[in-house]
Amino acid sequence: MPGPALDPGTQTPVAVIDPQGSGTTVATLQVSAAGQAELVDERPQQPGETTPELFISPGWVDLHAHVYDGTTQISVHPDRVGLDHGVHTVADAGSAGQATLRGLIDYVIPSARTQIKAWLNIGSHGLVHLREVADSTFIDVPATVAAVASAPDVVRGIKVRSSGLIVGNMGLQPLQLGKLAARECGIPLMVHIGEAPPLIDDVLDLLDEGDVVTHCFHGKTGFPWAPDGQPSAAMRRAIDRGVKLDVGHGAASFDITVAGSAVAAGVTPSSISTDIHVRNINGPVFDLATVMTKMLTCGMSLAAVVRAVTEAPRETLRLVEPWRGDGGRLHHATLFTLGDEAPEGRRYVDAGGKPITPTQHLVAQATVTAGTPRPCP
Ligand SMILES: [Zn+2]
Repeated sequence: MPGPALDPGTQTPVAVIDPQGSGTTVATLQVSAAGQAELVDERPQQPGETTPELFISPGWVDLHAHVYDGTTQISVHPDRVGLDHGVHTVADAGSAGQATLRGLIDYVIPSARTQIKAWLNIGSHGLVHLREVADSTFIDVPATVAAVASAPDVVRGIKVRSSGLIVGNMGLQPLQLGKLAARECGIPLMVHIGEAPPLIDDVLDLLDEGDVVTHCFHGKTGFPWAPDGQPSAAMRRAIDRGVKLDVGHGAASFDITVAGSAVAAGVTPSSISTDIHVRNINGPVFDLATVMTKMLTCGMSLAAVVRAVTEAPRETLRLVEPWRGDGGRLHHATLFTLGDEAPEGRRYVDAGGKPITPTQHLVAQATVTAGTPRPCP
């Protein structure tokens, strides 16, 4: 479909997916003369009533992306993966460490219209060096704690990449030190899992309630799922403790068979995120809607998929701004369609190249930020 009409004075019927509501409602999206988006005349959808072509939800959040543009080689500009693709808030996952955080705050965040939060890498320099925790001299816990305290509005957690190529001979130490910093600061830890060592079981056993495991559906040797989709014993213990699962698709960390089996066995991720960066933005990741479409194909409901990019990551990042206020006025929102045809240029494969054949395709159409709607280009 052509993009929605969002000029002042326009009115458009929409289907509302509100994770805090009950069931789908329909409403009218109107844009005031001053250009402010408002949701009015909301009512439950009647049986047999046609669903409007356009959906609206709270603004989407990508819990794991790389947007330290101009400083780390793998990063992309925040608006390129944010507002341009329906994503209201992007959480940069460890591109900055304590020694490089100031550049993210002083130069990148002011250059973007997308809201940006950060997981601070336990490696001091972040991802300017891709073996960022392979040496003990790269980690400074007191300086990391001080950096978090200097920017509590931006830094919402600590990131540790805990897999063999990254930690080298350091084993579990980066994770243990990252956990120490996170617990000192009272914030969650996001842990990347991948190839051993360390063993994923040992990684998972160190995580507490509220911590996040990203790349939860990777298919590398030792992945924490049985062929029937049941979690490994350590993963089950982690889930039972309240550890959250995050998709973090990435260039090498999403296996459609693993994800599909887990969903079929009744385990769904808390959050759906991209791990988008220069090496996957032109495929297989493309954008957040593409990863959401893949999870829909795995069997998650539309409501669950939307919750995994709205309420769940907002809770993890402690984002408290409601999406709508008095008189239906919107603060933040994402407008999207669910169509029968793939958008031009989008191909669906997992990180290993396995083809995926969705029957429905989510496409972001516009983002509302600070009350103002903006069509996706
Ligand atoms: Zn990443």
